[in-house]
Amino acid sequence: MKAILFREHGGPDVLELVDVPVPTPGPTEVLIRVRSVSVMRTLDTEVRSRPGFGGIPLPHILGADPAGEVVEVGSTVEGFTPGDRVASIQILWCGRCRPCSRGLNNACIRLRIQGVHTDGGDAEYAVVPAQNLVPIESGLSYEEASAIMVMHPTAWHLLIDRGALRPGETVLILAAGGALGTAGIQVAKLAGARVIAAAGADWKLEKARELGADDVVNYTTHKLSDEVMRLTDGAGADVVFENLAVPELWPHSLASAAYLGRIVTCGALGGSAVETNMRAFYSKHLSLLGSRAAPRSQVAEVFRLAGQGKLKPVVHERYPLEHARAAHEHVSSRAVFGRVMLSV
Ligand SMILES: [Zn+2]
Repeated sequence: MKAILFREHGGPDVLELVDVPVPTPGPTEVLIRVRSVSVMRTLDTEVRSRPGFGGIPLPHILGADPAGEVVEVGSTVEGFTPGDRVASIQILWCGRCRPCSRGLNNACIRLRIQGVHTDGGDAEYAVVPAQNLVPIESGLSYEEASAIMVMHPTAWHLLIDRGALRPGETVLILAAGGALGTAGIQVAKLAGARVIAAAGADWKLEKARELGADDVVNYTTHKLSDEVMRLTDGAGADVVFENLAVPELWPHSLASAAYLGRIVTCGALGGSAVETNMRAFYSKHLSLLGSRAAPRSQVAEVFRLAGQGKLKPVVHERYPLEHARAAHEHVSSRAVFGRVMLSV
C-alpha cells in the first residue's frame, strides 16, 4: 500500500511516499481503507519536527483521525462488518484505570495517541482498535468525519463540561481561525452563547464572523482585554477558550474574564509557561480548567449533531496523500482557517 512515512525528525522534506505491506489487524482491531485524514499542528507537524510525546517509533506513519471503510475485523470484534463507514478516535486508552472506569477515557493514565505513538492513517490502509471506531452517519462525508473528529468533541468537552457554559453567557475564543477555534465558535453558538472571536489576522476574523461570531478582536492591532471589556460593558467574558499559553497574551486572557469566569485550555503551542497574578485570579473568583480531547460518549454526541448539520467542520484546503509535504507546509504557514485535509 502507499503510505507517507518519515525515518527521522525534521522539516516537511523528511516525509516520503513509500510502498509498505498492508498491516494485519489483531484480535481487537479493525483494518480500514482510509479515505480521509487531517494534518494538524500538534499531532502532525510538531511530531514530525522533533522527538517528544514520550517516544515515537521510527520510521513512522502520521495521521491521528483517519476515516474510511472497514475492510477486515479482528477475531473478537463485534458490531462492525466490512463495508461499514467509520472514523477513528485519536485517543488510545486502557479501559482499566480509574478515569477510564469513570467513563473519562480521555483522561486515561496510560493515554497514547493514534498516529503519534502508533502508526496512523497517512496511508491507504490503517489498523485501529475497534473500541475507537465511530460509525459515520449518512449525512457526513469521510472528509467531514475526519475533519470533525479531534477538535469539535474537544471544544464541546472544554466549553460545555469543563467550562459549564450556559445560554446567554459570553465566550471569548482565542486563536479563532484555528481548527479548534472554529469548532469552539460553533459549539458556543449552538449552546446559545454570545461569541467574541479573537485572532491575529483580519481575514480570519471576517471568516469567524461568517461562522457565527458576534464580535471580533484582532489582538495584534488592539489590546485584547481592553476590547473585550469594551464589548461587554466592563463585565468580561464568562468563559475564555484559551488553548494558547502565549506569555504576552496570557495576562490579557485572564484580564478578559468576568467575575466567576472560567478559563479553559487544552493547548500550549504558544510556549506553555505563563505568569499569573494570583491576587487578580482569586479576587475575581476565576477557575482554570484543563483537559485533553473528549470522552468517547461525547465524540458520539458530536457525530450525532454533525449528522443533523448542527456542527460542521471548516475545511480550508485538501491535498492528495502524495502531496503530504505541501499539506504540512501549509499547516506550518498558519495561513489556514480551519482544517487542512489529505484525501487518500
Ligand atoms: Zn485508562
